[in-house]
Amino acid sequence: HGRTLTLQRYPVRNKETLQAWDAADEYLINHITESDITLDPARPVLIMNDSFGALTCWFAAQSPVCSMTDSHIAKLATEANLADNQLPSVTVTDCLADLPANPQLVLLKLPKSNRLLVWQLQQLCQHLPADCIVIAAAKAKEIHTSTLKLFEKHLGETKTSLAVKKARLIFCQPDVSQAAPLPPPLTWDVPEHNLTLTNHANVFSGDSLDIGARLLLEHIPANPVYKDIIDLGCGNGVIGIKAAQLNPQATVTCIDESYMAVASCRENADRNLDNPAQLIAKVNNCLDDFPADSADLVLCNPPFHQQNTITDHIAWQMFRDARHTLRNQGALIVIGNRHLGYGEKLKRLFGNVSVVAQNNKFVIYQSVK
Ligand code: SAM
Repeated sequence: HGRTLTLQRYPVRNKETLQAWDAADEYLINHITESDITLDPARPVLIMNDSFGALTCWFAAQSPVCSMTDSHIAKLATEANLADNQLPSVTVTDCLADLPANPQLVLLKLPKSNRLLVWQLQQLCQHLPADCIVIAAAKAKEIHTSTLKLFEKHLGETKTSLAVKKARLIFCQPDVSQAAPLPPPLTWDVPEHNLTLTNHANVFSGDSLDIGARLLLEHIPANPVYKDIIDLGCGNGVIGIKAAQLNPQATVTCIDESYMAVASCRENADRNLDNPAQLIAKVNNCLDDFPADSADLVLCNPPFHQQNTITDHIAWQMFRDARHTLRNQGALIVIGNRHLGYGEKLKRLFGNVSVVAQNNKFVIYQSVK
């Protein structure tokens, strides 16, 4: 369409081999550009779940845009790509925020979690004006009959496009008479540890305790000399909260890049800890901007994908950041699926690694700085 954007993924890596946009983004842009939709400068385009800002950058040049995402990394990527392309700044809000008033067009990249999709469709159904156009996009293989049924059930009449470059669009006509209250976060108990955990829609393993986390819970050390403990990639906070209970003298900082995870972690700390101020829950990319030599223990159940791409580069980043942030003699404790081979990486990075515990699926490693 005679325009060029320069887009990078975030965090920016040397020799990046992955693109910062996909065929579904291209399909959406081509569809809108070639359609007879005239963008109204008085009404925002609402973009949901943009991966690294490709859609936001495209539409920001022509219209007021509001972008909503649960990912702090997506927010950082979007802001960086807007600036790199000299585009107007855009408000990027998290998925628990209110929707902007009176959008003309909603472009929704299908999230990986169906719970988040239902949450977003219900949010839209409650707030959209009846004339709003809603178009979702994803890889064709991610759009199932059951996905379309969710659109029908929670937003309105739904049709799909043909596949182009293995991507498809979903067209949905909002039916405000279907509006229903937003579903409450899922709450369940872990009776063996006397914990009650609340999980907003996009939290990792939000409907039951992760089996890796279950093993790690049994092996969190208690040591009166610990002053600062970090739960890196905290999800609902289960590991950090248990560490806080076992180490009441320590401050526990729980980090996640998901806003819904951090909100859940905060609520769970308030509910489960005698002294909730002992735990700090913070949205961050790994340990960016954490000072060196400032922690005694880092606990980590790392992620193995970013958006829809399976990758171990975030786990690597977490291990490197942990080494930087730990004090001498401080320990990093990591749980991973046996086949991921984290042990060798930790050995290379720290010069030592030991196995704390294992079962047929998972291994818990410890490296000391
Ligand atoms: N600790 C929780 C548990 O054991 O159930 C969650 C573990 S889950 C395997 C990994 C977590 O890392 C997810 O909650 C994910 O959102 C978070 N994560 C992914 N990338 C991240 C990043 N760059 N910085 C911080 N957290 C990240």
